[in-house]
Amino acid sequence: MKEILNISLENEMDLVLAHRRSMQVGEQIGLTVATRTTFATAVSEVARTAIEYTDNGKLHLIISGNFPRYSLYARVDFKADQVFRASDEGFFYAKKLLPDFTFNNSSNAYEIEMGLSLPRSLKLDESRISMLRDFFNQVDPLNAYEKIKKQNSHLSRLTGEQEEEIRMRRELDEKKSEFISVASHELKTPLTVIKAYIQMLRALKDQYSEKVAQVLEKLDLQTTKLSLLTHQLMDVSKMENGSLQYDLVEVDLNDFIQETVMILSNVYPGNSITMQLGTKCRVMADPMRLEQVLTNLLGNAVKYSARNSPIQIETDLSKDNDHIVVKVIDSGLGMSEEGIAHIFDKFYRLKAVSASHPGLGMGLYISSKIVSDHGGEIWVESVLNEGSTFFFTLPVQNLV
Ligand code: ADP
Repeated sequence: MKEILNISLENEMDLVLAHRRSMQVGEQIGLTVATRTTFATAVSEVARTAIEYTDNGKLHLIISGNFPRYSLYARVDFKADQVFRASDEGFFYAKKLLPDFTFNNSSNAYEIEMGLSLPRSLKLDESRISMLRDFFNQVDPLNAYEKIKKQNSHLSRLTGEQEEEIRMRRELDEKKSEFISVASHELKTPLTVIKAYIQMLRALKDQYSEKVAQVLEKLDLQTTKLSLLTHQLMDVSKMENGSLQYDLVEVDLNDFIQETVMILSNVYPGNSITMQLGTKCRVMADPMRLEQVLTNLLGNAVKYSARNSPIQIETDLSKDNDHIVVKVIDSGLGMSEEGIAHIFDKFYRLKAVSASHPGLGMGLYISSKIVSDHGGEIWVESVLNEGSTFFFTLPVQNLV
């Protein structure tokens, strides 16, 4: 069965199209004028009923059968709340014209088929049928109405395809998020247990040689890294399903930075972290999440700089005094324009570092969400091979 063309049946103009196109199909196949007129009139009778009572009908002109026996069919389908019968006027006349007529309906869906066998003398074969389809695909519109109709249907097909693509992408994304969520939760439990055992063993260090103690220390460090990654994965999945929550309290920002830097200076003894903190102020923030942002920015500054390369953290009030600006400045690898444009995207990592530095590209994505959820902004200025400065702002609650 091959559909040669179809026409949606919405209004009177479509009735004209249905008649003229049915005639044309008959003409292209080689039917006599009388036969094609009979066919087109029967099609019009059924199409008229569909148009009169609904605006959802569709006419399909079809060639069915196999070489050398073919039939020309018209199928009209539509949905309607009222009840129709095969004996109703339009259908009755169509059946008189084309006795090969079937009337089907289930609940409110109707399907009416009418057709005629095509004589062998028309010499129809598969390639001619394909040519016929191509002809009607490319044929010029009969009038301005059909032109607009074609354009609309092209546009709605494109929209449909785009919507389908978006739907599929969303589905894939949801599956990925679900996997991340399940995987990170499954990893968390055994990791917590491993970490607890390592702590227990480290507490018994008098019973081991220095070498074993060193191995345990390394194990502890690597487990902490693994646990950090697991937490990042969990944060990403919380961000995706909107369940990242904040316990906001008033935080004295300069004090908070000083405490965090003190801790981090022990973690990163290879780089000196200096501070130049401006006007003291309080911000409304979740301390755990704020620490996460500072740790991420300072950790990256260390990770993407040479050992001994200095790192500076500064705070300053914005011009209008309603925001505090925090800067984390390094003189490390810096990054390209492309990096600057994408650095806060999920899982983005610069190619230049992906082989040499470990990481999953989640830290800045999470930090940017935390900052924006606190009512601030985050951005970076950077020059390749010279260093980077990360900025983030937070609304000032009050000056101290
Ligand atoms: P990760 O460090 O785990 O890859 P992040 O989201 O924290 O994840 O950082 C994303 C990417 O941004 C890093 O892979 C790196 O390419 C780049 N980057 C981040 N901070 C810096 C920095 N201070 N200097 C140079 N590149 C950086």
